[in-house]
Amino acid sequence: MTAGTDMSLDSREVPLGGVRGIEVHRTLPQRGLPTVGAWCFVDHFGPIDSRLNVLPHPHTGLQTVTWPLAGNIRHRDSLGSDVVLTPGELNLMTSGGGVSHSEVSVGDTSAKMHGLQLWVALPEDRRAGPAGFEHHADLPMVEGSGWTGTLMMGELAGSESPATTHSPLVGAELRLRPGRAKIPLRPDFEHAILAVDGEALVGSTEIVHRQMRYLAPGRPDVTVHVPAATTLLLIGGAPFQDELVMWWNFIGRSHDDIAADRADWEASAERFGQVQGHDGKIIPAPPMPGVRLTPRRRTMA
Ligand code: MN
Repeated sequence: MTAGTDMSLDSREVPLGGVRGIEVHRTLPQRGLPTVGAWCFVDHFGPIDSRLNVLPHPHTGLQTVTWPLAGNIRHRDSLGSDVVLTPGELNLMTSGGGVSHSEVSVGDTSAKMHGLQLWVALPEDRRAGPAGFEHHADLPMVEGSGWTGTLMMGELAGSESPATTHSPLVGAELRLRPGRAKIPLRPDFEHAILAVDGEALVGSTEIVHRQMRYLAPGRPDVTVHVPAATTLLLIGGAPFQDELVMWWNFIGRSHDDIAADRADWEASAERFGQVQGHDGKIIPAPPMPGVRLTPRRRTMA
C-alpha cells in the first residue's frame, strides 16, 4: 500500500432513466480514482419532486446498494423479489454473473424523492457466482462523539451490519449534530465522506453540498465540523486491487467480458432472467463504443 493523498471530488450531473428521467449527482467513479475500497459507483439523487421509473435492466460483477432518504422505491428482480423500500432500509442486490431488476416510485404521482444508489465491485472469485437479493429493515444504529448513524454495510463503532459483503468495507449514513464530531476509521481502509445535505469541514478542508472528500489509508479517525445538523455518507474499504472495466450496467475485467454481457442481454439470455410486471418492457443496451474498452486505472490516490 502506498501512502495516498486526501482530495476533494466534485459531483457531475448525469441523466438517469431516459429523457424524462431524473438527474443524478455522481461522485464515483472519478477519472483517476475508480474505486474507494470496493465501492465503485456513488449516485446521489434529489431532493426532487419526481417519479422514479427505471425499467428492467441487467447487472453483472457488482452489488447494488439502494438507500432512500425520502420517498419509497418498489424493487422487482429476476429472482422474484418484489419489495417496497422506505428510508432507513437497505436493498442489496448481488448480481454475480447476471441478474435484472426494475426500480419505480410507489404511486402514480410525483413525490419528494431523495436517496443514494451505490455499487460495490465483486472480487474475482465472486463476480461470476450466483445472484442474490437482501432487504434489510433492521440495521444497527451506531453513535459516537457528535454523531449518530445507520450502518448499511460492514462494521463501525462496535456494530456489524447483517448485509452480505464480499470484501472488507464499510458504508453508513451519519447524522451529525451542529459542532464537532469524531468519526472512527480503520487505518487499513481508504474512506470517502459525501456531503448529502449541507456542508462540512472534514479535517481542515470544507466540502460543499454533494462534494466528496477522499481520505487515504492510515488514520484511526477523522474530525468533522458542521455548522448545522448535517447528513453525511461514509464509505470505505481495503483498496481494491482488481482493474475494472465498467460500462453501462456491467463490471468486468476486459472488453470481451463486457461485449459478452451486452450480447447476452440483447439476446434475452437465461442468466439475466425476467422481471415480472412490466409487460416485457426492458431497457435495451446502448451500442458498444467504437474503441476497445480499457480498465479504469488509479492515478490520483
Ligand atoms: Mn440497476
